[in-house]
Amino acid sequence: MNLLITNALVVTCDDGRRILERSAVAVTGDRIAAVGETAALERDFPTHERMPGRGLAVFPGFINAHTHTILTSLRGTVEDWDGNAVYGYMSPISYTMEGEERAVMARLGCLEAIRSGATTLVDPFRHVPSYARQMASTGLRLWLSENCADIDTRRIRFGDYAVDEAFGRTFLDRTIAGIEAFHGSEGGRVQCQIAAHAPDNCSPAILRALSDLAAKHGLTRTIHLAQSVEEINAVRAMRGCTPAEYLHREGFLGPDLVGAHWTYCTPEDITILAESGTQMVHCPANSSRRGPHPVLIGLIRDAGITISLGTDNMTEDMFHALKIGQILHRGGRGRAKELGVDPQPEQTLDMITRNAARSVGAEAYLGQVAPGMKADLTVIDLNQPAMRPLIRPIANLVHYGHPGIVHSVMVDGAFVMRDRRVLTIDEPALLAEAQAVTRRVWERMIAANPDIPPPPGGLRWYDA
Ligand SMILES: [Zn+2]
Repeated sequence: MNLLITNALVVTCDDGRRILERSAVAVTGDRIAAVGETAALERDFPTHERMPGRGLAVFPGFINAHTHTILTSLRGTVEDWDGNAVYGYMSPISYTMEGEERAVMARLGCLEAIRSGATTLVDPFRHVPSYARQMASTGLRLWLSENCADIDTRRIRFGDYAVDEAFGRTFLDRTIAGIEAFHGSEGGRVQCQIAAHAPDNCSPAILRALSDLAAKHGLTRTIHLAQSVEEINAVRAMRGCTPAEYLHREGFLGPDLVGAHWTYCTPEDITILAESGTQMVHCPANSSRRGPHPVLIGLIRDAGITISLGTDNMTEDMFHALKIGQILHRGGRGRAKELGVDPQPEQTLDMITRNAARSVGAEAYLGQVAPGMKADLTVIDLNQPAMRPLIRPIANLVHYGHPGIVHSVMVDGAFVMRDRRVLTIDEPALLAEAQAVTRRVWERMIAANPDIPPPPGGLRWYDA
């Protein structure tokens, strides 16, 4: 659309990290055409629709660099369970679902994402072609990928780590089908990544096949890395080394690879990862829900790794990621006086804007409010208690922000939420559908997998 937001506070995240008062942002089509003084832009863009920006702050659209929207189906359950949730619940429930059920839960995640100011989701999961179109219909910018494995993730909870080539082939086929069907679709708003699920469920052969596919199509790659004690133990038993060492040995590391978590990476792992240029996506809120997160974040920061933030499972709340990330990253420094207070909120904001854009190779057109960038904007309501007094707007956002301060969200030059109304989703209908789908799926999963325990306190369905 052609729009001129006038008299707003513009947090550019540009190279000068400028914050412009009473300024304007001109959007022409899907791009930011100009950023500057309101009077000048009013003259330059006389026919653009006006949006009064007094009391509003315009930020670059928030990028959630690692999430699994479908796992909203596990919200309020496995956070309080002490087993391995990846193989105990997440893998089984994803196989229990049918395509339309996946689409409903993915759209619930998209709705929460929009309401928390996200414009982009990077979402590796399974059976992506069965729900990608419905996700795209929410208007969000997406990087989708099939989370490939050739060790059957449904068997791992029984201690079975046998390589299953046919199982791996189904993932590679869906990856190729996804690239053919979705990569670059919706005018480039939907793109694909190449995803290996994790070092404990990927053989050297599938890692190689995935790197070949990435090279062939020019795509970035992602993998979960050192996420659990079980993964560390399994890789040690099968490969005789740590997950990072295994990926290094197989030639899988590199600047186009983003590893999620790094929870149990050793100092030696961090050196290897830094030397390879591998990027980190950190999911601080999710990783901390079941107790302190032992990641060596101070060492990782010192090594100069590019860090993005994601929400991972059960939530799309970007403010959790910002706030808890800020706390964890400072805690990782052990409060060493000589290091000062690090990171500052500006650096943490970079982790969901500039760095996150870089994580998917999109830093040339995402992550800043600047001329020529894609018009992906998160508009924050400054007339909310959490944003006052207004002395350091980015500090307010990072330390105290919450989804209630998000006023409007624009992706690719089109509003997906305007003045708090989500324009692309029938919210009441989706909430009702998601409740019904979750109940059906949980009941089927428990019936088909008698070894899976109900969540702590049992399964009970509350009427809303
Ligand atoms: Zn994940």
